[in-house]
Amino acid sequence: MTHDVAVLIGRFQPFHRAHLHLVESALQKADRLLILLGSHRCAPDTRNPWSSDERQEMIRSALPDAVQERIEFIPLRDYLYSDNLWLAEVQQKVLGATDEADRILLVGHRKDRSSYYLELFPQWDREDIAIQGDIHSTAIREAFFRGAEASEWAQHLPEGVQAFLVNYRKSGRYRWLSQEAAYIADYRKLWSVAPYPPTFVTTDAVVVQSGHVLVVRRRVHPGQGLIALPGGYLNQQERVVDGMLRELREETGLKVPRPVLEGSITSRQVFDAPGRSLRGRVITHAFLIQLKPGPLPQVRGGDDAEKAFWMPLADIYAHEDNFFEDHVQIIQHFISRP
Ligand code: NAD
Repeated sequence: MTHDVAVLIGRFQPFHRAHLHLVESALQKADRLLILLGSHRCAPDTRNPWSSDERQEMIRSALPDAVQERIEFIPLRDYLYSDNLWLAEVQQKVLGATDEADRILLVGHRKDRSSYYLELFPQWDREDIAIQGDIHSTAIREAFFRGAEASEWAQHLPEGVQAFLVNYRKSGRYRWLSQEAAYIADYRKLWSVAPYPPTFVTTDAVVVQSGHVLVVRRRVHPGQGLIALPGGYLNQQERVVDGMLRELREETGLKVPRPVLEGSITSRQVFDAPGRSLRGRVITHAFLIQLKPGPLPQVRGGDDAEKAFWMPLADIYAHEDNFFEDHVQIIQHFISRP
């Protein structure tokens, strides 16, 4: 052993044989292995279908009893708009699970540009693992949610993970994710004939009053049934603020007069993380509308919203894995400022 603790960061959606090789390499170098399960409690979609508990179950099922006690799982949220907040959480969680004198080794493989985070830990030693065959989680998920035969998606999965997924196929969540996958595939196909990949512009309204935020339940794919901010695509002939107010009225029926809404805009911000939507490149302009304290105005769902309702701010975190795309992070951005 060259180190006391190894750290392996990943999403493991799902855990495949190349991931298993990383775990085995880490266990050859260090007494203990901390597996940091990224994208914890993020919006459920076909990129991040399995919860941290489910991923932990898959990983444990692939490992022999003899090593189980040497492994700990640490869930880790994403901070799409701040690597520093994410790094602070990684540092804090690893510090909490290690001793000051521990020699720490970060194990990983530089897969592509998305692996840049491996460079952000100069305080730890690094072990770069070579690519293990032609194994890609994205291809496995694509075949799995398309409903393909196991021969198309199971080949690179440890047996325990295969068994987990065969069972998972019977769940309602699998059916929902398959519909989401089909919607996204059709949508991308529709735009694949455009001369350049399109960039879409949307708006979102963060209407806050007396410790509540106005949200909707989505009636349609993508994210059917998930909680979202009222918002949608910008029309060709409208200004961003007009699109935001139009969508707000269509989806929530909020009867506050337009001059009051406009006069209550206290902040606006562009949210443009390249991977924020599976539909493709979608940049949203979000507005904070801070209404005066008082009884919460009546609202009702309409258009793409099955339902509109006021959610207490505290409930956002309880429901964060039921929110669409990065909407929790958009709300968080506005409510964390004075
Ligand atoms: P992953 O499951 O895709 O990969 C885990 C590890 O396995 C990586 O080191 C990867 O390179 C390696 N691997 C995958 N296929 C391999 C193969 N065929 N051969 C050898 N190695 C292979 O996980 P990921 O997406 O890299 O995980 C990073 C996590 O960190 C994500 O959850 C991401 O959201 C998070 N993150 C968050 C922020 C932020 O919130 N600001 C910033 C950076 C990273």
